[in-house]
Amino acid sequence: MKFFSCNLFLTAALLFGSCSSPTAPDTLAFVDESPQVTLDLAQAKQQFLVDSQPTLPVPLGNETQPFVRLPQSDEPKAGITPSGVVVPIVAKQDTSWLAITSCQNPVTLKDITPIHSAHVVLDPGHGGREPGAVGYNGLRESDLNLQVANKSKELLEAKGASVALTRTGDYSLTVASRGFIAEQINPALFVSIHHNGGANGFSEDPGTIVLHKHENEEAERFGGIFYEKLQSALEPIGAEKKAAHAEYVKKKEAFEEELEAYEQSVAADKEAQQQTADIDSAEATSPEPDPNENATAELTPPEFDVEEIPAFNWSGGPNAGVRAWKRADNKDYLGVLRNSGTTPAALVEFLYLSNPSEADLLADEAFIETQAQVLTDSIVDYFSNPTLQGSGFVADQQDDQPIGGGGSKASCTEPELQ
Ligand SMILES: [Zn+2]
Repeated sequence: MKFFSCNLFLTAALLFGSCSSPTAPDTLAFVDESPQVTLDLAQAKQQFLVDSQPTLPVPLGNETQPFVRLPQSDEPKAGITPSGVVVPIVAKQDTSWLAITSCQNPVTLKDITPIHSAHVVLDPGHGGREPGAVGYNGLRESDLNLQVANKSKELLEAKGASVALTRTGDYSLTVASRGFIAEQINPALFVSIHHNGGANGFSEDPGTIVLHKHENEEAERFGGIFYEKLQSALEPIGAEKKAAHAEYVKKKEAFEEELEAYEQSVAADKEAQQQTADIDSAEATSPEPDPNENATAELTPPEFDVEEIPAFNWSGGPNAGVRAWKRADNKDYLGVLRNSGTTPAALVEFLYLSNPSEADLLADEAFIETQAQVLTDSIVDYFSNPTLQGSGFVADQQDDQPIGGGGSKASCTEPELQ
């Protein structure tokens, strides 16, 4: 790829700000995400990536080798800064790189660990001042998303995949920056990892939602594979939790019956003693020792020292399943999908952190691994079997219904890069 030199770049920089200042005002604001839009992504690429060849698409593999050798690329598409932050690179400047920060500002960096390509880019949703959904037990979605992404990266790399993350710590990132990292690296799959919030009714099945890039068959295919795999991993877990609760209820009912029988015995004993005492006083004789006289003393109250197992319910709504969500202008509703170029991209909402049953499940570290394993297996299947479709598809959605802010430039705080 041939990049602009800094001199040529300066021509553009005269229009849009400084070539090297990380704090240049809105020089590279991305379309749709900021009220102060000055330049959309397509224009930015035209300005900065002159003569750039699109990265060759990463091919899918087969059963024996899901992750084939990546196409070679001369120049890095993104980089990891010394502090671990991933930034997309847009131009080379002599001995440094022009990159775009997490909050969409241009920055010149000398010291980066280059990312040339990747089979998969994983995007742990939220971060920094935006925790996403928060469970009743204090769990934060941003942390869970990162844990699942890190574990999945580890599992996928063990299978030979090259994996890049959009976020590597607890810091801000705009949705457009997330998408742009994926677009630059151009993997065969981009997955944004989330856990759902908000009120929803109880549901027989887990209320997993997958939103895929619209009119993108590969993204849709991944969505179906992931949904099917997650449902089959979650269903037995839910069944086990429900059975454990039912067992607890049975034990508690048995105890209550035992307690009632005990109370009845105590009452009957008392009555019998009272009657004996009445007879004794009526006859005014010294009675023979009654063999049942000490019966009450021998009765011990039943104890219930079984740990409570709360009821388990999945949360879900009519929008569970796999679908595309388009705006009235026929673009993807979600910025992270809209801004990721042609990369097959999907956003997955594993389950509901806002539901106490599911928040309890998510508090278990082993469950993070379960989720990471599901994501890894789905990605391996996606790469190794290009005809696999999965299931769970529901009708696409088309509306501009607001879903709240987050991930905008206005709410972004730049992470430390050095
Ligand atoms: Zn989220």
